Amino acid sequence: MAFDTFYGNDILKNTVFTRIKTGTLPHAIILEGEKGIGKKTFARLMAAGLLCAGEEPPCMECAVCRNVLGANHPDVLYYETEKHTKDNFKIDTVRAIRDIAYIAPNQSEYKIFILAEADLMNQAAQNALLKILEEPPSYAIFILLCEKKSAFLETILSRCTVYRLERVSNETAFEAVKALLNGPTDEEIQKCIDLVGGNIGLVLDGLRGNETIKANEKAIEIAESLTSAYEFELLKALSDFENPSSKKLLYALCEPLKSVFRDALAVRCESAPLIEMNAGTASRLAAAFTKKQLFNLLAVCDDFKVKIERNMNQKLLITWLCAALRAAVEY
Ligand SMILES: [Zn+2]
Repeated sequence: MAFDTFYGNDILKNTVFTRIKTGTLPHAIILEGEKGIGKKTFARLMAAGLLCAGEEPPCMECAVCRNVLGANHPDVLYYETEKHTKDNFKIDTVRAIRDIAYIAPNQSEYKIFILAEADLMNQAAQNALLKILEEPPSYAIFILLCEKKSAFLETILSRCTVYRLERVSNETAFEAVKALLNGPTDEEIQKCIDLVGGNIGLVLDGLRGNETIKANEKAIEIAESLTSAYEFELLKALSDFENPSSKKLLYALCEPLKSVFRDALAVRCESAPLIEMNAGTASRLAAAFTKKQLFNLLAVCDDFKVKIERNMNQKLLITWLCAALRAAVEY
């Protein structure tokens, strides 16, 4: 089966494959999953599957499949936001999509719209989208990609089928990265997987040298510093971010920091941590703090994300983060 080129998520792959083969794939799909999990790739595979005329669509070899996967097919239209921030999927874009949707496909049975970061639509944009979903042309397929389906209005959700992509096992992630990336040693791959878990996109990012690995290490250092009685430890951990060149790293810190606190909460509730590399720190945090304090720390991460999205001044952001983390664990 051609969906085999996508690692993990076997149940979802089987469902989608069967639906494509029987011509029963829903016309409005929400594809949910965390950053790096493969939503865009999976959406393109679905599109290729719908348009491919091979025996086992997507065959990955015909001109249609190659064009769809290479983002070069006139009937597969892809949209994403410019700034990747809240409310940034604009109503004007949705209106443009509507206008294009009512023009028949160029050369295929379907016209497929992939809307990346569709959860960044505000209410007005969602309502505009709803109008298309309520009366779609028969050939139109909408695939809305999002991190959290809860960002959508109930009216949108009720018109869509939700498919969710999950993390893969560490073994599958290892196998995938070995196949997809030349260069890194087995040890380097394993270290990265230990840090970020079974999210193949994040592992690849980390190995390609972006901020992921460093941000994960920093997140652990910051979390550890909170167990110290001395505020100095936290200040020291955050001092790297004072340089303006560390802005990207500071922004990349949000998710790994949240994952450490989430794992600490899991340990506090007697579950296993999700990410192996967090285990030691998670145990120490779980021993040092109450559930309430750990929830407070998670809330700080959510506020942190909002402030990043609002493009808060870097120095102010570090000062705020330092104070908010300390306040979260005060009795
Ligand atoms: Zn094909």
